[in-house]
Amino acid sequence: PALDPEAMFKQGFLADVYQERPVKPVVTRFPPEPNGFLHIGHAKAIAVNFGFARHHGGECYLRYDDTNPEAEEEKYFVAIEQMVRWLGFSPYKITYSSDNFQKLYDLAEKLIELERAYVCHCNDEEIKAQRGGENHGPRFRCAHADQSVETNLAEFRGMRDGKYKPREAFLRMKMDITDGNPQMWDLAAYRVLEKPHHRTGDAWRIYPTYDFTHCLCDSFEGITHSLCTTEFIQSRVSYEWLNKQLVEHQPMQREYGRLSITGTVLSKRKIMKLVNEGFVRAWDDPRLYTLIAIKRRGVPPGAILEFVNELGVTTAPSIIQLKRFDQTIRRYLERTVPRLMLVLDPVPVVIEDAEEVEVDIPFSPKIPAMGSHKLKFTRTVYIDRSDFREVDSKDYFRLAPNKTVGLLQAPYPIKAVSFNKDEATGKVTEIRAVFDKETKKPKTFIQWVPSGSRAVEVRIHDSLFKSEKPDDAEGGFLNDINPNSETIYPNALIESGFDEVKRRAPWPEAAGESELGKGGPESVRFQGMRVAYFAMDSDSTDDKVVLNKIVTLKEDAGK
Ligand code: ATP
Ligand code: MG
Ligand code: MG
Repeated sequence: PALDPEAMFKQGFLADVYQERPVKPVVTRFPPEPNGFLHIGHAKAIAVNFGFARHHGGECYLRYDDTNPEAEEEKYFVAIEQMVRWLGFSPYKITYSSDNFQKLYDLAEKLIELERAYVCHCNDEEIKAQRGGENHGPRFRCAHADQSVETNLAEFRGMRDGKYKPREAFLRMKMDITDGNPQMWDLAAYRVLEKPHHRTGDAWRIYPTYDFTHCLCDSFEGITHSLCTTEFIQSRVSYEWLNKQLVEHQPMQREYGRLSITGTVLSKRKIMKLVNEGFVRAWDDPRLYTLIAIKRRGVPPGAILEFVNELGVTTAPSIIQLKRFDQTIRRYLERTVPRLMLVLDPVPVVIEDAEEVEVDIPFSPKIPAMGSHKLKFTRTVYIDRSDFREVDSKDYFRLAPNKTVGLLQAPYPIKAVSFNKDEATGKVTEIRAVFDKETKKPKTFIQWVPSGSRAVEVRIHDSLFKSEKPDDAEGGFLNDINPNSETIYPNALIESGFDEVKRRAPWPEAAGESELGKGGPESVRFQGMRVAYFAMDSDSTDDKVVLNKIVTLKEDAGK
């Protein structure tokens, strides 16, 4: 039986978090920095934050944490929202930390007035020394900490009005340097950055830090449970400290373990290198684990959510092999997509005594509700080159001269009688066969397509890296690239049932495809019998269909 889709909220970490604060309505947020494309790890954060709110009948904000003007680009904003919707979630509201720049500024002045913040002019080295230096010596404050409220206000306004260059001044919170937690050692609240911001233009030359912004924005939005990853455990005290100084509503921050996938790289810098140096086509290349790539590859969003749910949520990091992700996808596809016959490397077989008949083929022997489709069995059919051998042997059970093999759903098995070869290439160009009406149960059935079938390009992807730990490779991850991560079959043939699969996609309607996922080429998914699971690639046009392998049919299958 399939796992309860809400299991991760009903027991364990997330159930405990709710029990700690069992309020209604629950309000959460997913707060990406719009500085890159989301990856598989972010899918966990989306499932946790949006899912937690939905499970408790509450709301989740999509908040762009856009306080660093240096790295933000419009295309990321668009792609992030699309991926949230593709995964099947609807933001309650879409907000921007930058919407609050004025409010945050006013609160910073208030913090100064409360004698809880000061403008500091120390450099990195001086700050390091104040924090005890490398040998963890005594901690102390600089003279700036003793400035009057008036001086600090004037200096802060000076920062705002262009009196200082970047790094010449910053606003520091006056916290508790005696605390053992470095997050209490007078953190920066504001810094000077002479960069225009994509939303506020050049209205500001000072920008608030994460530590100043995040907790306050959580409070402004009435967040009840602020769920983040465990790198922020130490930040919980500064989060609570600042909110207590300045605001009424107190959100509760709790931390869960990150999701990492081995056998690939997720860092922006590394993926950028792979793209720029031509190891992959683009950021959405199906061999990558950005969400746009996973989508393009044809992985259903429901399978991703099932994966996160299966792993469960705890405070420990989840470090997972790619093959485990593939397993979940495979299981998901097994119960949701139709089957078709696809021949990657076709060779014609002329069946000398065959007559054209129509056969009725179920879309899935396992799911009768999917119905069936008609297919012409023609006198010439195409089979895959790998299913024929020029010389037979005892331990071989597919087609060879004088050997019988079954054709899936065909009237009779066939027996090869002869074949032709191209002398120049040494390749078999045609096989001649007859029906074998004596053999009732052939050992093996192979797939075939009739003449007149549609030619398609098939891209078979394999792991982009050779090892589980590309980063540990001598000389760096680029030295671990698998040179055979993509095989292209330019002249594959797909049976005509594909047209119906395409028209009816996504299959089945009950599979829980999100609204956004319904229109995409990648929602045209099927099992290519005896080959792999496939989806239509976005390079497809009206004239030419391109297919991507989603996953193999069995674990450790070659292709
Ligand atoms: P990266 O450096 O990989 O881009 P990030 O932490 O900078 O990650 P953000 O854009 O700040 O990414 O992420 C938005 C949210 O997603 C944050 O709450 C963050 O904790 C969460 N998140 C990011 N990576 C993961 C991961 N691997 N597993 C779970 N949650 C993650
Ligand atoms: Mg971040
Ligand atoms: Mg990031």
